[in-house]
Amino acid sequence: PKVPNDLSAFWMPFTANRQFKKNPRMFVSADGMYYKTADGRDVLDGTAGLWCVNAGHNRPLITEAIQKQAAELDYAPAFQMGHPKAFELATAIRDMAPDPFEHVFFTNSGSESVETALKIALAYHRVRGEGTRTRLIGRERGYHGVNFGGISVGGIVNNRKFFGSLLTGVDHLPHTHLPDQNSFVRGQPEHGAYLAEDLERIVALHGGDNIAAVIVEPMAGSTGVLMPPKGYLEKLREICTKHGILLIFDEVITGFGRLGSSFAAEHFGVMPDLITTAKGLTNGVIPMGAVLATSKIHDAFMSGPEEAIELFHGYTYSGNPIASAAGLATLRTYREDGLFENAAGLANYWEDALHSLKGLPHVIDIRNMGLIGAIELEGIEGAPTKRAFNAFLQAYDKGLLIRTTGDIIALSPPLMINKAQIDELFGILADVLKNLD
Ligand code: PMP
Repeated sequence: PKVPNDLSAFWMPFTANRQFKKNPRMFVSADGMYYKTADGRDVLDGTAGLWCVNAGHNRPLITEAIQKQAAELDYAPAFQMGHPKAFELATAIRDMAPDPFEHVFFTNSGSESVETALKIALAYHRVRGEGTRTRLIGRERGYHGVNFGGISVGGIVNNRKFFGSLLTGVDHLPHTHLPDQNSFVRGQPEHGAYLAEDLERIVALHGGDNIAAVIVEPMAGSTGVLMPPKGYLEKLREICTKHGILLIFDEVITGFGRLGSSFAAEHFGVMPDLITTAKGLTNGVIPMGAVLATSKIHDAFMSGPEEAIELFHGYTYSGNPIASAAGLATLRTYREDGLFENAAGLANYWEDALHSLKGLPHVIDIRNMGLIGAIELEGIEGAPTKRAFNAFLQAYDKGLLIRTTGDIIALSPPLMINKAQIDELFGILADVLKNLD
């Protein structure tokens, strides 16, 4: 494929737009762990696209399933009608998820999964005839997509400051990242459960029986790979249970094997009431998301008062046949290739390789778990994101795709990576960091 001459019509997601048009970079094909650039170079995928291509690129089962489904049944209405693949996929997700998650609601993206989970939480007490709970609690540095609910509960001020009316009745827990206690700690830091006690303070402020849900990423991904301190998630669970508040884990990044288990809930042994997913569900190939719910939640909507029947929520493409076929083939690929096991098995090797960057210029922290990692760089005064962005550009030139947010480099390769590719990845990155101004 050729690079088009005219790049002006496509409006790229806002923050990336201006810089890219000055210096376009394009992938034209991809296979396994590598992208091919428009100028014919191979680039090792250090980020699984945008944390989504967990099974690797151009996987035959997935490609064939999409082609076959498109020819057989391309679309079926999502309301009042069904088709087999959506039901099969829901069952396959249930089989893969920890025990309490018995039901699956399909969406088309992480952002939609978040909106769906928030709406389920807000309606839940009402359909049980227990009155209305209107408050939602998120966390600073939480990322929950870009729709209005998600940016309201999300903890990134820049993502909401341009928009007038957001959800009201939202509060935020403080974030859990204390850099000076945390530097170069492997896995979860110790500094702990006491941070979760902030929830008691917020509960006291709003009243426990006004709060519908607390939403957190069990491990914050796109704001810098922030590990939950030991005991933190357990304590959140305990406080939510005490006040009848639903706990939502946003597992759009951590779901589908990233930490070496199906979901972070399983990895940390803490069960929320709802799990939001997307990305790895269809290997990033076709847009799809899903909300996983326990029977307690699901059954409240199925058997609640007549009023519950009036509740409407759903998308034209919920459980779309082609996306469902892609999801089924993706989960099959994870199983047959043992990809979650591969991620778990390589976690220590990955950790050692990542921590070998300690001591290189500008590196002030390294964080990791499963097959995810972050390298925090000292920002340049007055231009705090510039150094990491330069690292991104140089890595791309040297054949490696990384992701940067602010002054943090994030890594999350496809789970099919092997030791030689881990060595290649960190070889290139070390080279970049050694030569970074
Ligand atoms: N939640 C989390 C935790 C995410 O990381 C993301 C995407 N990075 C989203 C929600 C939003 O997903 P999408 O971009 O598919 O809407």
